[in-house]
Amino acid sequence: RPLIGVLALQGDVREHVAALTAAGAATTSVRRPEELSRVDGLVLPGGESTTISRLLATFDLLEPLRARIADGLPVYGSCAGMILLAEKIIDGRPDQHQVGGIDMVVRRNAFGRQVDSFEADLDVTGLDDGPVHAVFIRAPWVESVSAEAEVLARVPDTQAAGEAGGRIVAVRQGRVLATAFHPELTGDHRVHRLFTDLVREA
Ligand code: GLN
Repeated sequence: RPLIGVLALQGDVREHVAALTAAGAATTSVRRPEELSRVDGLVLPGGESTTISRLLATFDLLEPLRARIADGLPVYGSCAGMILLAEKIIDGRPDQHQVGGIDMVVRRNAFGRQVDSFEADLDVTGLDDGPVHAVFIRAPWVESVSAEAEVLARVPDTQAAGEAGGRIVAVRQGRVLATAFHPELTGDHRVHRLFTDLVREA
């Protein structure tokens, strides 16, 4: 079984550990560079991206994490994790650090401009057995992606979705995967299985 770390500085760590375990992975929490060096893949949880990014710097994980991603480490980020993986963000804090890994621009708290949370059923490329019920909590959306990145899901363009309709909310670039929503909260483990398969292949 692949060993998948969950970055455990802040955020919904336990929920990702449970989802990864259900998806068949062995898991461990990551707070130190030695722990990072041992994992076959890493999850960046939902939480508060500014806080997580500051703690990454404080715990001397920022540069080692960038280096491992450049070396091909599979990484999955949900919500705050997606923000961290973006090369550029809109409405970030001035002292917020980007891990990078996906050539995309993300708008932080994009859904929060309308309502704090939003739910929608999404078709996700690669997940064929029905839509994913996506829960967005003060979530970002993706403003744009480069040709390097593959769009996996968009919010359906319905009236209820308002300004969020058609927005990109799941992206993959090589072995780096990001969703604006939280599959770790819904009991549907298909996104975590997709990531676990990606780690196995790597
Ligand atoms: N709004 C949070 C941020 O900017 C993300 C919210 C989440 O992860 N649920 O980091």
